[in-house]
Amino acid sequence: METTKNDESGRVLVLGAGYGGLMAALRAADHAPVTLVDPSSEFTERVRQHELAAGRTSIGHPLAPLLARKGVRHVPARATALDTRRRTVTTNSGEELRYDRLVYALGSRTRGADVDSTGGDDGRVFTSETAAHLHERLQDGRGRLTVVGGGATGIETASEIAELTDWEVELVTAGQVGPSLSDKGRAHVRQVLRALGVTLREGPAVTPADLDADAVVWNASLQPTTEPATAAGILLGADGRITVDEHLRSVSHPEVFAAGDAAGAWTPDAGALRMACATALPVGTRAGRNAAADLTGGEVRPLRFRYQAQVLSLGRHDGLVQKVRRDDSPTDLVVTGRLAALAKEQVVRSTVRALRIAAR
Ligand SMILES: Cc1cc2nc3c(=O)[nH]c(=O)nc-3n(C[C@H](O)[C@H](O)[C@H](O)COP(=O)(O)OP(=O)(O)OC[C@H]3O[C@@H](n4cnc5c(N)ncnc54)[C@H](O)[C@@H]3O)c2cc1C
Repeated sequence: METTKNDESGRVLVLGAGYGGLMAALRAADHAPVTLVDPSSEFTERVRQHELAAGRTSIGHPLAPLLARKGVRHVPARATALDTRRRTVTTNSGEELRYDRLVYALGSRTRGADVDSTGGDDGRVFTSETAAHLHERLQDGRGRLTVVGGGATGIETASEIAELTDWEVELVTAGQVGPSLSDKGRAHVRQVLRALGVTLREGPAVTPADLDADAVVWNASLQPTTEPATAAGILLGADGRITVDEHLRSVSHPEVFAAGDAAGAWTPDAGALRMACATALPVGTRAGRNAAADLTGGEVRPLRFRYQAQVLSLGRHDGLVQKVRRDDSPTDLVVTGRLAALAKEQVVRSTVRALRIAAR
């Protein structure tokens, strides 16, 4: 017998309303009743957090209009515990939510700097998650800022702040800047950083205590938010993400699917996917559809994904489009300058557009 969306025979519960979770909720809602748990009433464009630090006024979009047409119920709370035997999730408000299929999409946070939400113990260390506080600090008057981490997020943060504020900016990284880029791409990044007045220090790893800047932005790497999964006994891989099969189903708990940075997703074409908005959206789509299909007797399909390009902003007027192979390894083909800056802005806008389309 076919099950329809209105049958109360089963419910998909989605944890986290980032790129992965929100997309999963909207796609699952085409076929099953969905509840979405996230403490915020807004979807946050996390890929713009460095822009928020440098002065952009808002990077949030209200969830209510995105969820209304698909009838997704939003529970504004933090998931604190999972009971996989009883198939329940407990929230910080004490509510217990039942699920038949769960999509775990709690994302990630900056790894390595032990900071609270107001700038760390000495008020000096910030992360992407504390971008709004960093913005207030940058408004306090000119000073010296060190950005730690030479990956895409660190490069984007250093160039954005150097271009849009009058702070003196240094980028410090273990090894060389832009490790995932081609020599040509890396050369362009170095040239733009120099032109923006950013001092680049490549070499050994540092700790916040090694740095004497007035403010530090810690952008070293991302750590998946999988504590509730670990406590529930859900199997994680060596990278700390939920181990899933090609259908994004937990290998230890078949009623649990995972999406976004918390999922150790992979495809035969691309290998293990990196934590990125670019992967969270397609993975969220597939996880949401599969969770609903699994519940309603539909077809559960494998994830298909291959990389095409890495796209970086270098301030508001320059950028880098790095063409990559299907497994994310860089080729010699790069597009730079204003065209690349425009491409980056279009890519970022297209993520919100994709969510709006899914919401219809
Ligand atoms: C400054 C910056 C720039 C970036 N630029 C790019 C880029 O250009 N391209 C790219 O591909 N990637 C980029 N990334 C990475 C990208 O933002 C992440 O990979 C992406 O956001 C992952 O999506 P997600 O849905 O897994 O998690 P998130 O977007 O982190 O969302 C997780 C959600 O879970 C919620 N949540 C957390 N804990 C709980 C809980 N206990 N209960 C309920 N809800 C909870 C949070 O509130 C949040 O809404 C960037 C990241 C940063 C920080």
